[in-house]
Amino acid sequence: MSRKVAIVEDEAELAGLIEYNLTRSGFQPRIFGGEHGTLAALEDFQPDLIVLDVMLPGHDGFELCRRIRSGGTLSRVPVLFLTARSDEVDRVLGLEIGGDDYITKPFSPRELVARIKAHLRRSETDAAPESSEITLGPFLLDQAARRVFHAGKEVELTSTEFKLLEFFITHPGHAFSREQLLRQVWGEQHFVTPRTVDVHVRRLREQIEEKPDEPVFLATVRGFGYRFEAV
Ligand code: CA
Repeated sequence: MSRKVAIVEDEAELAGLIEYNLTRSGFQPRIFGGEHGTLAALEDFQPDLIVLDVMLPGHDGFELCRRIRSGGTLSRVPVLFLTARSDEVDRVLGLEIGGDDYITKPFSPRELVARIKAHLRRSETDAAPESSEITLGPFLLDQAARRVFHAGKEVELTSTEFKLLEFFITHPGHAFSREQLLRQVWGEQHFVTPRTVDVHVRRLREQIEEKPDEPVFLATVRGFGYRFEAV
C-alpha cells in the first residue's frame, strides 16, 4: 500500500510541484491549504508523514504542529517543515514544536522526496517492535497474530471486525464519525455505507460488552459516531 503524505502549503504552484514528485515516487499525496480546519482534515486523511509549511494563512505552521503533537491520532506522525528563512530553523528544531526535520526553500523536489523516504523508513523501524502487542484496559491486541483478548479470553472476530476493533483500541478516547471509520477501516470500497459501521459496531458490542445495549467500552457519540473508552 502506498504511503500517504499530507502537503500543507498554501502556495498552489509549490504544493502542486511537491504533489507531482511524490506521486511519481509512488506516494499518495494530498494537498491541504493550511487554513482553519486543516487539522480536522488531516485527522481524516491519517497521513504517514506531514510536509508542513511554516507560513500559512490563519495560523502558522508552528502552531499547527504544536496542535498535531498535543494529542489525537497524529501525535506521532513525522512532520517535515518547509521554511523560507534560516532563522526559522531554530524554532523548527525546538523541542516544544515537535518537528522532525526541515528543508529550506528553495529546495529540489528530489531532495524532499529522499528526506521523506528516510523518515518513513525510520518511523517503520521505530514502530515495528511495539506494534505487535498493545494493552488497553482489559483488552490485549496482538497485531502480529491479528487476535484480540478481552479479560484474557479471545474475542472471536471476522477480518473486518478485527480491523475495526484494532482501530478503536489504537485510537482510544477519540470520537470518530461513521464516515471517518469507513475511510479508516474499509478504505475506498464504495459499496459500503455508514449503516455498515453500525452493523459492525453492534456485532463488536455483542462480543465485548456485558450488556450490548448499555455499552461501557464502545460508546455512541450522539449525532456523530463512536468513541472507544478504555475503562
Ligand atoms: Ca506558505
